[in-house]
Amino acid sequence: MLGLMQNQPLLTSSLIDFAERHHGDAEIVSRRVEGDVHRYNYAAMAKRARQVANALDGLGLAFSDRVATLAWNGYRHMELYFGVGGSGRVVHTINPRLHPDQVAWIMNHAEDQVLLFDATFLPLVQKVHAQAKTVKHWILLCEADKLPSDSGIPGLMSYEAWIAPQATDYDWPQFDENTAASMCYTSGTTGNPKAALYSHRSSVLHAYAAALPDVMGISARDSVLPVVPMFHVNAWGLPYSCPLVGAKLVFPGPALDGKSVYELIEAEQVTYAAGVPTVWQMMLSHMQPANLKFSSLKRTVIGGSACPPAMIHAFQDDYGVEVLHAWGMTEMSPLGTLCTLKNKHLKLPKEEQMKIRLKQGRAIYGVDMKIVNDAGEELPWDGKTYGDLLVRGPWILAEYFKGEGGDPLRYDAKGRGWFPTGDVATLDPDGFMQITDRSKDVIKSGGEWISSIDIENIAMGHPAVVMAACIGMPHPKWDERPIVVVVKKPNMALSKPELLAFYQGKTAKWQIPDDVVFVDAIPLGATGKMLKTKLREQLVDYQLPV
Ligand code: ADP
Repeated sequence: MLGLMQNQPLLTSSLIDFAERHHGDAEIVSRRVEGDVHRYNYAAMAKRARQVANALDGLGLAFSDRVATLAWNGYRHMELYFGVGGSGRVVHTINPRLHPDQVAWIMNHAEDQVLLFDATFLPLVQKVHAQAKTVKHWILLCEADKLPSDSGIPGLMSYEAWIAPQATDYDWPQFDENTAASMCYTSGTTGNPKAALYSHRSSVLHAYAAALPDVMGISARDSVLPVVPMFHVNAWGLPYSCPLVGAKLVFPGPALDGKSVYELIEAEQVTYAAGVPTVWQMMLSHMQPANLKFSSLKRTVIGGSACPPAMIHAFQDDYGVEVLHAWGMTEMSPLGTLCTLKNKHLKLPKEEQMKIRLKQGRAIYGVDMKIVNDAGEELPWDGKTYGDLLVRGPWILAEYFKGEGGDPLRYDAKGRGWFPTGDVATLDPDGFMQITDRSKDVIKSGGEWISSIDIENIAMGHPAVVMAACIGMPHPKWDERPIVVVVKKPNMALSKPELLAFYQGKTAKWQIPDDVVFVDAIPLGATGKMLKTKLREQLVDYQLPV
């Protein structure tokens, strides 16, 4: 017997309809490429999203056609999320930090029909436009009078001129909730990039889950700043979760330096911010010397790479901001775990709580997790045993776009498919997951694994260290030994022996790195993560001290 409840497809257009009706006056504030700050509200945004949908119909785009963006976090990008997805097309957010050849490759692979881009990226678009074979319409996200006459891109249109004549009413079509809504390519550190194709259903379910109190925990009383880019995993789903709860949205545009982000937080009374550790590192470096404080910020979700303990301490102890450590990946929409304490942890001393806060957190309803050994056997949740982390759930990838890379799943005895995350982790009896490494970054010394994240976290706790990367180096006796590559704070002294001495008592002796290498910068990938592959290339002639 079937239940007798109404069967409505979960479509992203319903989020914006809801926000328009119930939170129409909640603000969306954006720092623009033009340099000024733009403000309007969900009601105005919904109208313009419908104009986008009408304009796409006008271009004759078919259902599921891909519409690409090269854009910062801002209100026009948000209009595209809803106008494109809501009308049944697929919004393809491209990471502008990728190499132009890779951008062109991705556009051809996705078969993008339209590209909409911020003025910042005109030079990039000029490089790729001859190679991008499928794009028929090139649209600059600007006012009509800002359109350059000499762009070298025939038929280039202004976004504002394109949508201005369109009607503001549009009946969002109702279709199968499993239809694709958006797509995002993984950074593809090995081989060609592969695309995750998010459905309307997965996006709406993820938005619901993300908003829960023990997940992102956002509400109509929050002012939310997604610093994490809309071109990378939909800014962790915030452009969908915020309309779902009616939160004010604040977009930083291209100004991602510490000073600009801090000033925006203060000006817009941001209560909730989301970003990768490198962004917050820049902001804290700006705030500390000037002794600046926050007047509104209460919580910040930090993920994408391990959040160093020193950062959690700084936010909590110096600024009164709660850090929510989060873990996920492109293939997971991206949220998998968030680290919020359980009731029983509140009685623990602060240091014990901190040990838990450092973990990547516990699974959200909708994400099943397990750790397995090489034979695929499930390992115990004892907080010590580590293994390959596998996940499954309704917002986790089943296969890549166009079947690239074959079937990515691993099947259990019941025939259920699990997605291998490529992370090596422990799970404790309370279900808190802790990543020790990317499987490809694991360091194996004398048959024992050393967690590069642990070694990095200790170095990051030293006041003179800005960034630290731990990598394994070949060793004749131990197979591999760890070294730590460090960027020092300018104007602060730090020697090798001092940093090595700093490790004493903080980790087992045999895990202490064999050497410290000081560098001016650690190479970062397109999503602001340390690129250890590149770092290893840079250190190809390096020899361990004997
Ligand atoms: P890409 O696949 O392009 O590198 P993703 O954002 O999909 O980008 O990266 C996902 C990976 O990032 C995870 O599998 C994990 O290794 C790492 N990661 C994400 N969040 C955390 C975290 N909080 N701590 C440690 N590693 C993390």
